[in-house]
Amino acid sequence: MKREKSEALFEKAKKYFPGGVNSPVRAFRSVGGTPLFIQKGKGSHIWDADGNEFIDYCGSWGPLILGHANDKVVDAIKKTVENGSSFGAPTALENDLAELILNNNKYIQKIRFVSSGTEAVMSAIRLARGYTKRDKILKFEGCYHGHSDSLLVKAGSGLVTFGNTSSAGVPESFVNETIVVSLNNEAAVKQAFAEFKDQIACVIIEPIPANNGLLLQRKEYLQFLRDICTENKTLLIFDEVINGFRIGFEGAAGYYNIQPDIITYGKIIGGGLPVGMYGASAEIMSNISPEGNVYQAGTLSGNPVAMAAGIAQLTECLKPNFYQELERKTQFLIKEIRSHLPSSIIPFNIFSVGSIFWIAFTNKEVVRSAEEIDADSMKYFRVLHKELLERGIYLGPSGYEVGFVCEAHTEEDLIKTAKAFGEALEIAMK
Ligand SMILES: *Cc1c(COP(=O)(O)O)cnc(C)c1O
Repeated sequence: MKREKSEALFEKAKKYFPGGVNSPVRAFRSVGGTPLFIQKGKGSHIWDADGNEFIDYCGSWGPLILGHANDKVVDAIKKTVENGSSFGAPTALENDLAELILNNNKYIQKIRFVSSGTEAVMSAIRLARGYTKRDKILKFEGCYHGHSDSLLVKAGSGLVTFGNTSSAGVPESFVNETIVVSLNNEAAVKQAFAEFKDQIACVIIEPIPANNGLLLQRKEYLQFLRDICTENKTLLIFDEVINGFRIGFEGAAGYYNIQPDIITYGKIIGGGLPVGMYGASAEIMSNISPEGNVYQAGTLSGNPVAMAAGIAQLTECLKPNFYQELERKTQFLIKEIRSHLPSSIIPFNIFSVGSIFWIAFTNKEVVRSAEEIDADSMKYFRVLHKELLERGIYLGPSGYEVGFVCEAHTEEDLIKTAKAFGEALEIAMK
């Protein structure tokens, strides 16, 4: 596989950006080698600067549920941008996207658009603190909620990849307001509520944790969180930035049928452009400025081009059987991969929900907490990733990240992928 152009571009990028990238995991450090510079994408395929073609399962880390450069999304973007890209004044497109979402999601009544998942979560936390007049928040080891200060406490995603447990530059006093506990551990949550009685503003969780492996939780556990929050007048935040609109239009709230107090979204909602959103009951949302006294604003919030892309994408997601079909394809891919496994296989499993899948080198049948992941097993992922690239398959460059099947993946793609997995795993085993 030729990499000369990507290598040259990376050398140049290193002069401009720390580590040569604008987001850390992109640097390929956990898999080794040079990151590929992508030139174009169409449907389920991407092409790098050297002209190599790949079947893509990263999907820009989740947003591209229809695949790359979907015609309807591209048309909506073009049509909208011809009339101006931003006004800093309301446009009808914000109403249209809000209507589309709220008419099809019974778990939220009012929303606000922002420009990233990080911003959505940061704003939701401020809202919870403002609403409850409490300072402490409780989060879970192995859940990623973006890079705002109070949440960079033993977070997953890139941080775990680099073996750090936190970030420099976050004041100790902020960290003291964040309680971190293990997933799937009721006793730890009960203890936190006992120790910090009437001080916890919110419990925030990825209800389908998918940034540090895929750590599927039991419904009873999520219901336990719902109940203990209600008892303690603490708000329950579902961070659905990655799974929202991915495993169904109502995300994890709908999947588990649990009503959180605030939900955050991002990724898919913007059709590949930068959009985030948080929503809650009308009563809770009335605390947001200018109606209430919790301040939150954005120069490009509700950006018309991004709204148009979101409308185009979510309209497709609402079509009958959209999610069933994605899940069917994902199950097909997993079944095909299993049928290509080498006979003497190292510990290996694939976990999935909807169209999200996670490749894990483990003997375990269930993995529900970050501590259950064996860091040493990532050495197998390194080889797998490299060998898959050689065979035209692109996975996100970290064994802690999940993969996504999109609408554009064809049966031919999936069969080719499974065959490549068989060959790559054979090499990873040696
Ligand atoms: C991606 C993600 C975020 C951060 O979103 P950005 O758009 O990258 O700021 C927050 N929470 C979850 C669950 C995510 O998956």
